Amino acid sequence: MDVDAGHGAALGGALPTQPGELPLTRRLRSLLTWPTSDADPVNALVRAHRSIHASADSSVLRRAYTIAENMHRGQFRKSGEPYITHPLAVAQICADLGMDTITLVAALLHDTVEDTRYTLQALAEDFGREVAHLVDGVTKFDKAFYGKAAEAETVRKMIIAAGKDVRVLIIKLADRLHNMRTLGVRSAASRERIARKTQEVLIPLCDRLGIQTLKRELDDVVLLHLEPDEHARIARHVHDRPAGWDAYLEDVVAKTRVALRRSRVDAEVAPRPRHLYSIWKDTVAGGHGAPFDLPRISIVVAGPATDCYAALGAVHGLWRPVPGRFKDFIASPKNNLYRSLHTSVRGPQDRTVEVLIRTEEMHRAAEYGVAAHYRFPRTTSRAADRADELAWLRRVLDWEQEAVDPAQFLESLRCDLAEAQIQVVADGRQVVLPAGATPVDLAYELSTERGDHCLAARVNGRLAPLSSELAEGDVVEIFTESDAESGFEADAAPRGPRREWLGFVKSPQAQMQINRWFAEHTEPGISIADKVRLGRATIGLALRTHNRGLASDLPLLRLSEELGYPDLETLLVAVFDRAVEPDAVVRQLIDLVDHRQ
Ligand code: MN
Repeated sequence: MDVDAGHGAALGGALPTQPGELPLTRRLRSLLTWPTSDADPVNALVRAHRSIHASADSSVLRRAYTIAENMHRGQFRKSGEPYITHPLAVAQICADLGMDTITLVAALLHDTVEDTRYTLQALAEDFGREVAHLVDGVTKFDKAFYGKAAEAETVRKMIIAAGKDVRVLIIKLADRLHNMRTLGVRSAASRERIARKTQEVLIPLCDRLGIQTLKRELDDVVLLHLEPDEHARIARHVHDRPAGWDAYLEDVVAKTRVALRRSRVDAEVAPRPRHLYSIWKDTVAGGHGAPFDLPRISIVVAGPATDCYAALGAVHGLWRPVPGRFKDFIASPKNNLYRSLHTSVRGPQDRTVEVLIRTEEMHRAAEYGVAAHYRFPRTTSRAADRADELAWLRRVLDWEQEAVDPAQFLESLRCDLAEAQIQVVADGRQVVLPAGATPVDLAYELSTERGDHCLAARVNGRLAPLSSELAEGDVVEIFTESDAESGFEADAAPRGPRREWLGFVKSPQAQMQINRWFAEHTEPGISIADKVRLGRATIGLALRTHNRGLASDLPLLRLSEELGYPDLETLLVAVFDRAVEPDAVVRQLIDLVDHRQ
């Protein structure tokens, strides 16, 4: 470090800084002050950073590298390489993502406070508070990575830190990516453990932050460590694709370009290869013997979102769409705010081709997610956009405060991060839910009030149990106690959620709210009178779904006798407790009434 500092100072004297000097002069200065040979390990980093942020100050990067190199000197990675290769690689990943200079400086120094004599205070004095804050955040994640509770606790810290400054999380993801790349030298057991943890928490987190460029590589490297044979099989398949593959894609791209030009849509069309993990996932999911790998292209339109639909029309006019494969993630963005149109068509030679259609802005957001704000500061600096992107993190932080123990929080997080999502229609709008979600999940998604008081659901026009699994595209109506009361029993006491719901709800939102309700309502049990009233309301509601009503209690009284209940009240309590299904009672009631008439 001393030698380097002297070197810089000597040349700095020869070439004093002029305020307002031209960028070219500055570039020449950097060429003069530092050797350009590959022997300087910081060159590639500076080049990557400047290729995105042309006017970035590289001297602070060199200073940070010098300090990190000096502090880590004598330390080695498990691979035998000098330790400094790790922080340098992490900074390089951040630079390729397009992160700002501050992030790169923090990445270079991210292990110094933890692993060397360099203190946080010294770091703050040398590089400023912002860098110190980022390094401190990254350091805190790394403590205590053992045991389930510890892991949950770590993730909790990660989310909190990310809510404050998402750059902390991006450095952490880059750190994990480099550690995963160099996992080969570790023991089989620790490779498996680290790869699993990456797959369970960090990849979904990466997905939720929308950083697809990082996620693709993490996906593939996890597959390599967890399923080495499968990884090799898919890699071989991609490497040995038949000669016609590229020509076919070129043909599809060329024909698409012509169709778009005819429709006056200005767009970039390109082949869009899948990454290994994505091919493998589809192969396994479809139960295919050979790797399942459809040709895919992307269309990035220059104009507004409406041009995406124009492009879709042009493609569907050219080739017949495959039914059921069109998805509109523009009208209904995914939870990670991903937007695009997806469709599949029967392309040339009647082969299925997948097509992604998006605007340039959607493309940037899909590739870089929250990092897009740093990579493209001019186009995405609107505060509202940023608030939107971080809305999910804020929601997680709300749960963090509500969840009692860290393990429960992690469970909720894992569930929420699950990749599979479905879209259903309720209240005339599309609602995104985790796969396997039930009407209760939907009710809580609509509002806490409706979740707490939901009684019944109609799915695609039919009454369905509250525990039934919803499917993609279902049209769902949720009925609450107030719906039942309005035509039936005005003074029914609110019933609230049922404990069994916890056994089938899928969304953390529903789990949290049900637990919250029971925490607030543990003391006062529901009285028998309430159960009778609500049991009656439930039957009234179920009857209405059959377009029937009750003129008097007489049929119910007869039914309770026939079913062997001591009195009508006991039957109504049984309905409330779900000892009998309301719909079953109603069917028998209708039979009874129709038979007697
Ligand atoms: Mn590290």
